[in-house]
Amino acid sequence: MSPEDNKTNYRGRLAPSPTGYLHLGHARTFWTAQERAEAQGGTLVLRNEDLDPGRSKPEFVAAMLEDMHWFGLRWQEGPDAGGPFGPYNQGERKSVYLEAWRKLLAGGFIYPCKCSRKDIQQALHAPHQGEDEPVYPGTCRPTAGAKTDEVVTPAGVHWRFRVPVGEIISFTDGCFGSQKFVAGEDFGDFVVWRNDDVPAYQLAVVADDAAMQITEVVRGADLLSSTARQLLLYRALGFQPPAFYHCPLLTDEKGVRLAKRNDALSLRALRARGLKPEQIRANW
Ligand code: GLU
Repeated sequence: MSPEDNKTNYRGRLAPSPTGYLHLGHARTFWTAQERAEAQGGTLVLRNEDLDPGRSKPEFVAAMLEDMHWFGLRWQEGPDAGGPFGPYNQGERKSVYLEAWRKLLAGGFIYPCKCSRKDIQQALHAPHQGEDEPVYPGTCRPTAGAKTDEVVTPAGVHWRFRVPVGEIISFTDGCFGSQKFVAGEDFGDFVVWRNDDVPAYQLAVVADDAAMQITEVVRGADLLSSTARQLLLYRALGFQPPAFYHCPLLTDEKGVRLAKRNDALSLRALRARGLKPEQIRANW
């Protein structure tokens, strides 16, 4: 029997965005994702989340792969490894996102929005702590059941998902346990597509996790409320949601979540100071 035959159905993923250098927080979350995939004898997928054309840089893709390899992360599918669910760069997966957009449109789940707000700029990347979209006041929300004009392309306006106001979205997180979010209070009608024809994070991540048959999403705790939104998308799209495991966030000495701007704690800076991956992990 080959090692492939031994694999279980567990499929996890590492989903970094190449918008800066990876730091200790990414390394710890990714390590947990790898440990969980290994413990299940499963498959780990690397997906390059280069959705945001303005912020993703090829040099950060190269650095990300190098830093992850250095740290001891290994994946069985990915942009550099190939695999049956490619392409593994989000920038090459627009047809997958368009299909999801069409399904949402046909089901009456989304509506065009002409508001130009800062949250629309932010919608391309995962809303990490303090970056979440404000609850949308509903300016462009049509009355329920109103027909949207025939459209064939999302380009030209923003598109928002109409959340079921007042519904409690609950799920059990593998790490944090029982979670509850109220649609319309904890988050509002969120952007799924931008007027410059770029899909938003929430839509892309659901379309990809479903298409890549991910069975468990492991990521940082600041995306717990994104999970509630994503569960609504899974339901609207008729996809089976994966399990979720959110990792506690690493903070700096002031208690602030690590971000890509904490260059001193980037994996490259730690490596340049002579630290070994095992020494870093020994501190966790
Ligand atoms: N690319 C996203 C990030 O780096 C990943 C979010 C997720 O894991 O869903 O923040």
